[in-house]
Amino acid sequence: MPSSAPAGASTEEEDAVVAAGAIATSSAAPDAGDPEPQRNKGRRRRKKRRPRAPTEEEVAARRLVLRWACPGREVVAADDGQAAGAGRARVRRPRVAVELHAHSARSDGTLSPAELVERAHRNGVKVLALTDHDTMAGVPEAVEAAKRHPIRIIPGVEISAVHSPSDESGSGAEEPVHILAYYGSWGPARPQELEMFLAGIREGRYARANEMLLKLGGLGMPMKLEDVCKIAGNGVAPGRLHVARAMVHAGFVEDLRQAFSRYLYDGGPAYATGSEPTGESVVQLVCRTGGVTVLAHPWALKNPGAVIKNLKAAGLHGIEVYRSDGKVSGTVSSTGLSDLADTYELLKLGGSDFHGRDDKEEPDVGSVDLPVLSVFKFLEIAKPIWHNAIKEIFASISKRTTDLNGSNGFRRISSAGDFCVLRLSCEDPELTGASEVEVLRTEVADIVLTHQ
Ligand SMILES: [Zn+2]
Ligand SMILES: [Zn+2]
Repeated sequence: MPSSAPAGASTEEEDAVVAAGAIATSSAAPDAGDPEPQRNKGRRRRKKRRPRAPTEEEVAARRLVLRWACPGREVVAADDGQAAGAGRARVRRPRVAVELHAHSARSDGTLSPAELVERAHRNGVKVLALTDHDTMAGVPEAVEAAKRHPIRIIPGVEISAVHSPSDESGSGAEEPVHILAYYGSWGPARPQELEMFLAGIREGRYARANEMLLKLGGLGMPMKLEDVCKIAGNGVAPGRLHVARAMVHAGFVEDLRQAFSRYLYDGGPAYATGSEPTGESVVQLVCRTGGVTVLAHPWALKNPGAVIKNLKAAGLHGIEVYRSDGKVSGTVSSTGLSDLADTYELLKLGGSDFHGRDDKEEPDVGSVDLPVLSVFKFLEIAKPIWHNAIKEIFASISKRTTDLNGSNGFRRISSAGDFCVLRLSCEDPELTGASEVEVLRTEVADIVLTHQ
């Protein structure tokens, strides 16, 4: 999570609690075509600006994004401020509520995946990426909940990693980085490989929590790992936020903010690092498994330029630039981040990083006003990657089908067409349209042929 933690910026999810109240002023969001991404009520009166008319490019992009977000639903025109028959000069910038960064109770959020989907839907979100820390365990529940609402789920995950400065930069210490991964609706191409990787990180979190507790014990605040795990919830790998909650619960600190500002901040007296992989290895893994990689909250990094350069070399696709208040804290302004994104030809994305804390200052799910052109560019990059992942999934399954054919119950799947029909009819694959299904059928036919 974004932060301006007391002892230097931090990227951990947990210091959201520190960050929420400590937003440094900075320039507004960067995109030239995005005049008012901020919803910072109160402090400064928003300048009244005449909304400019959307460009043709924006209108077209919005249409395409909506078609993807709500396949088969002709809500597009009704929902469109620029609908041709509107008659009035009702000029609105094209928007589609897309939330690309949100957590559920499957990591350190408070809402269940289903509750998160409900809330996102209530807030007008049309596309929601569930990005729990180091786990995709909440995705099936979110997808199930989304069937009751016109909302598309992007299976995602926010992966914990570290950046070690390379010898050329030489400056600064290791720092944590979080990398968001976005998969297509069929999930990662090699789910086992990804899951093993994530499981390794989750195990490291238990060791890390233990180390933090040892340090806190040495500081006169004895607590048990089982208490922290109880707070984290069933099967949820504990993080700093859970340790902080345990500290509040035990009465060692007044609130979460104090737990972080006194003990748990990066490099603090009770801070411990986990056994996280390098950022580069995470980016490579996500690319290998058919996902899109985006660096989370780079404004919280001490050395964003070096991190972004290294990760780009590993295959990074984008960075977060937008946040709900249109401002950034930390070492670099949003304009600076936008420039970095331009330099390295990276997508400019963002999300609320919603955790469902009991904190009025926390941005709500869906509160980031992501320009529709950013979403469009994201899809341009993502779709071929996701389609390739689907091809790989098909290839893997059809290979197994071929292997099994003749031995037992797979006889009924005798051709790629049958396989597709079976798969497409039972899985509600959320593909964008009939033509894509057709293309897929052809591709799968190719795959199956080459495997026979
Ligand atoms: Zn994070
Ligand atoms: Zn996050």
